Amino acid sequence: MRLLFRCLILLFLLALSAPVQAGNLTLVYHQIGGKGGVTLGLPAETLRRRVLALRARGYRFVTSSQALNAPSGVKTATLRFDDGFESVYREAFPVLQALGVPGTVYPILDLIGQPGHMTQAQLDELRAAGWEIGSHTHTHAALIDLTPGGLSRELDPGGQPLACVAYPFYLQDARVRRAAQQTFACGAGGAFGVRGERYALPGPLASPWDDWLLPLRAASGLDLRVPVLLALGGNILLDLPGAAPATPPLWNPATFELLGSGSLSFGWQAGVRDTRLLVRQQNWVLGLNFLRGRETYSGATLAYHLHPLTLAAGYGTRGPVVGVAAALGGYGEVWGRYLAGTAAVGAEVIPLDYLRLRAEYVLTPSALRSEAQYALPLLPGEGRPLRVLLGFDQGWYAGGTVRLGAHSATLISRLDRPAFGVRIQTLW
Ligand SMILES: [Zn+2]
Repeated sequence: MRLLFRCLILLFLLALSAPVQAGNLTLVYHQIGGKGGVTLGLPAETLRRRVLALRARGYRFVTSSQALNAPSGVKTATLRFDDGFESVYREAFPVLQALGVPGTVYPILDLIGQPGHMTQAQLDELRAAGWEIGSHTHTHAALIDLTPGGLSRELDPGGQPLACVAYPFYLQDARVRRAAQQTFACGAGGAFGVRGERYALPGPLASPWDDWLLPLRAASGLDLRVPVLLALGGNILLDLPGAAPATPPLWNPATFELLGSGSLSFGWQAGVRDTRLLVRQQNWVLGLNFLRGRETYSGATLAYHLHPLTLAAGYGTRGPVVGVAAALGGYGEVWGRYLAGTAAVGAEVIPLDYLRLRAEYVLTPSALRSEAQYALPLLPGEGRPLRVLLGFDQGWYAGGTVRLGAHSATLISRLDRPAFGVRIQTLW
């Protein structure tokens, strides 16, 4: 039975990691002109070959916003150029102009006119030639780390007619999607995206790592399936001795406000494996939780979002679970959960840009868990990928996180005893 269950989960994840090509196929590139590479330094001739190959298969090339309005049944392809590198103007534009194919450029607004990046005049020339210009935010910030004030700063079009926004590192959540909706016609999201949702358009499987791992990915062809399958393999293969809590810690079954299109996380701490999967389809969120140690927990929840509330119900090895969460005006959410005669209340908030606080209080037997994460003001153009955390769970622990594109790895050390933990998370 358990083996069958694991096989079903494996099949589900494999299906999830297959590319979404519902009508539109988007190809994301960064720099054009070079000796090779997936999206960095792609030779212009390779780009030309790919366009011709897709055309031969019946694809019509359109911009991001045109793809939204294409009649159903028409196969469209979109060439998306993130970051606004000048090589797109110099190398890709002439080739695509000759083919009559428009591109969509998402420049980092504050870098327009900087060395290596397109000037405003070049962007205007592209627009006049039928290209579409969008926004890749002002500074290439990781939008999920920002307060509503930070979001409106980063998403301000500055009086320009910018069609859509491409979220840096593909990172978005409900707050980000709502903020994008106020200004843009669409938002380009992570690798899988959400079918039929214009503020979580799928980014392609070819480029989920964005800027950090581009040179490595260019050499090896890595894509999102790698961390997904690694995490899954770790979950299936490792069976560790140890004491698991009876429910997943810091667990909001009605999460929505701070969720993108989905997430998979794999934690290993004090002999406990904690695997969580969230998949969003518009206002529905399917959640799966597995805890493995001396005690185990397996459960599934289904949540429905009706702004500002999210309601969740599910069933697991400790019986039924219900949850409710309320959005806090763009600063996060508060929530409650009831499982096996025990209630818990909690919150996950972003009170300041780059600071994230999570806490839960379990009523019986009473237990407090909390964690603060702060993204260090380093590498701002990479969205501050290095962060430190301090948490409390029957004792203090501290850790550090490195984010690579939409993936992150965290190392944790207890401060009260020699014990370590690892967490791997991938968002889309
Ligand atoms: Zn980028």
